[in-house]
Amino acid sequence: MNGRPFTILHYDLTAGRGMRREFSAPEESLGGSGLAAALYREYGLPGEPPFHPGQPVIFAVGPLTGYFPLMSKTVCAFRSPYTGEYAESHAGGRLAMSLRMAGYDALVITGRAKSLSVLVVGGRHMELHDVHYLAGSDALSVGKHLRRFGHGASGHRSTLRIGPAGENLVETACINVDTYRHFGRLGSGAALGAKRLKAVVVLGDSAQPIPEGKDYPKLFKDIHAKLTTTDMMDKYHNLGTPENLLVLNHIKALPWRNLQQTTDPGVEGISGERFAEQLLLRKAACSGCPVGCIHIGLLREMFAAKNDYLYRQVAYDYEPLFSCGSMLGLTQASDVLAVMDECERQGLDVMSSGVALAWAVEALAKGLVSEEQTLAPLRFGDAAGFRQGMVHLGQRSNEFWRVLGSGALKAGDAYGGADFACVLGQEMAGYATGEVFFVAEALGFRHSHLDSGGYSYDQKAKDKDAAKAVEFLVKDERQRVMVTCMVACLFARGVYTPELVQEALRVTGHPEAADNLDALSGEVQAWRWRLKFDTGYHPDRVRIPQRFLEVETWKGRMDPVFLGDVRARYTKAILAMAARLPE
Ligand code: SF4
Repeated sequence: MNGRPFTILHYDLTAGRGMRREFSAPEESLGGSGLAAALYREYGLPGEPPFHPGQPVIFAVGPLTGYFPLMSKTVCAFRSPYTGEYAESHAGGRLAMSLRMAGYDALVITGRAKSLSVLVVGGRHMELHDVHYLAGSDALSVGKHLRRFGHGASGHRSTLRIGPAGENLVETACINVDTYRHFGRLGSGAALGAKRLKAVVVLGDSAQPIPEGKDYPKLFKDIHAKLTTTDMMDKYHNLGTPENLLVLNHIKALPWRNLQQTTDPGVEGISGERFAEQLLLRKAACSGCPVGCIHIGLLREMFAAKNDYLYRQVAYDYEPLFSCGSMLGLTQASDVLAVMDECERQGLDVMSSGVALAWAVEALAKGLVSEEQTLAPLRFGDAAGFRQGMVHLGQRSNEFWRVLGSGALKAGDAYGGADFACVLGQEMAGYATGEVFFVAEALGFRHSHLDSGGYSYDQKAKDKDAAKAVEFLVKDERQRVMVTCMVACLFARGVYTPELVQEALRVTGHPEAADNLDALSGEVQAWRWRLKFDTGYHPDRVRIPQRFLEVETWKGRMDPVFLGDVRARYTKAILAMAARLPE
């Protein structure tokens, strides 16, 4: 950063060798998203396909990781098997802290192992183990096997692994991180699967010095108090993000049954309140987080063969409850947990998989595909069929499930029904709020609801001023890029204002980054777009299926003219950002 080299570990699986090295990144690479983009420029192969062995999978943390609360995320950067483009996915858990305690700003993995393997890395460890016997094992049970790696570092150890979906190169496969966290979207699990890497264990086996003087402990205390003694983070700890279900259902913005409806009285059965009353067992937190927003439900099921009960713990958030709940027409909380549990085992992205299954229900009902193809009776409200569907997605059971695993829009192109594929760049997030969100997710850098606050803009805006909307999207994305360069939890973006991040950078020895924070965040924003363009993206090729134009919210029907205007202006804005960088 500003001349300070980053310490990275590059492991080449083909050679079976790794090297700790200093990486002198360009001036604008703050850390996290910026460091990952700089590393992709060094190691990436823009002209080669996502599964080329030389493509890197990068895990990067930020300059404040390990120093302040909620600096708990890691950026995973890779060439997406889903879009073919440069992509980022973010996850919490213990990974960020383990990388920092191992003494690394980033881990870069290239090459392809000879057989299915586990990579174990730390400040004093670098081992590649053959684990061919774990082939096909699900993402939960493999976690138990991984405990034998890295004795003595438990507590500072993080384990990443893929399920059958990643091994089978399903384009919507995720990486499971520790317990309950994921690099969920855009197919990072398949990127690891292509490297024959079943798991990565990171050992935080070194010490990290803390900044000298009185300023750092004072600032830490202030931030900790803000997070724990004010109501700023209450929402996340109390009901958690599932409180959104009732709110969005009330304003007709909750996608139901493949977005054929935006509200339904059945929401009572899957609301955050119902989960808290009936199924909530405990809450957990990422390392270094005093908030603890991870809600864990208890799934109790009859184990028919033994006439006994089986108990499983399943984490739930708003997004999985929408994608495996309302989107599938499920109105019983335990049914939703059961579908999510199967998804977790297969190592699939829960949002893409739930939304893809919703498309399959409609395609089956309309006769575009047959039950011979789906192999399971898929009907809205029938959890048993969806549990089978998750297994078929992970296992790529036949040609239909292979195509559906590559995305609902691709399945729509193959079988008909592209007009009702709920895909905005990737399967939609749970916000049927209006035109600005639909454009923001469809065209956005990560095709994620977290790229910018388009959903909240839809809810607050009283006018249809496309120029104003696009100005908001670009500015909001820039501020979020600042947060993901650090790499803070985005739930804390209201706490970590630019001024507070500047102060934190100063007390940890990065005064130049603090002085230029806004400008540098803008540079990272532009570089991420440039990498996306260089790897094949063009906003004009993104489709927004007809189903989104049929949506009716509390504001009434969608306005295609306004949507078109927002889209045209946003396209111009992102093209301009990438174009201003040097070749
Ligand atoms: S608020 Fe939740 S997701 Fe964010 S760091 Fe804390 S536990 Fe992790």
